[in-house]
Amino acid sequence: MSAPRIGVLALQGDTREHLAALREAGADAVTVRRLVELESVDGLVIPGGESTAMSHLLRELDLLEPLRALLADGMPAYGSCAGMILLASEILDAGVPGREALPLGGIDMTVRRNAFGRQVDSFEDDIAFSGLDSDIHAVFIRAPWVERVGPSVEVLATAAGHPVAVRQGKVLATSFHPEMTGDRRVHALFVASLRGEDREEQAG
Ligand code: GLN
Repeated sequence: MSAPRIGVLALQGDTREHLAALREAGADAVTVRRLVELESVDGLVIPGGESTAMSHLLRELDLLEPLRALLADGMPAYGSCAGMILLASEILDAGVPGREALPLGGIDMTVRRNAFGRQVDSFEDDIAFSGLDSDIHAVFIRAPWVERVGPSVEVLATAAGHPVAVRQGKVLATSFHPEMTGDRRVHALFVASLRGEDREEQAG
């Protein structure tokens, strides 16, 4: 298969970093802001940023329900941090009613927003990640953690006793930001899953 065409939801957040990481991982990466763009991609990345702001914009732009429907239909996706929150089926501490983070589904899990604390509590750690040949340097910024996973969800990494990287089929989510380091292995895993090569280990 030629390079999969992967959209990066470009409403808010660290879109540029994901575009660069995806291109380095061999994808044809494009920004997505409109329904026609969303419908033209093989998979979608939801970046880190602020899940409440992204939810608000998704609703304003009439993208919320189409995106939920595409995910329910099996569209591959990867979300980092705020993106993980949005890919959940249930969000705890979602924010002020009316401006809260809205779950899109995609992964049968309950995620707690800002679980690792406020900006000041951001931290970095080297953690084991199933399918990668060595630890990954993980940057957590006001990160969520996962409090419940459904039976078809694989836990790929944990921190502080909670899942921080999970996968259900072709939908992947991390609490941390691989797009902010030079390590492209998580993006490469996602790109490989779109090529149908999910079982190959990603070497560093
Ligand atoms: N705390 C943010 C949110 O709720 C996520 C932070 C991030 O993406 N670095 O969306």
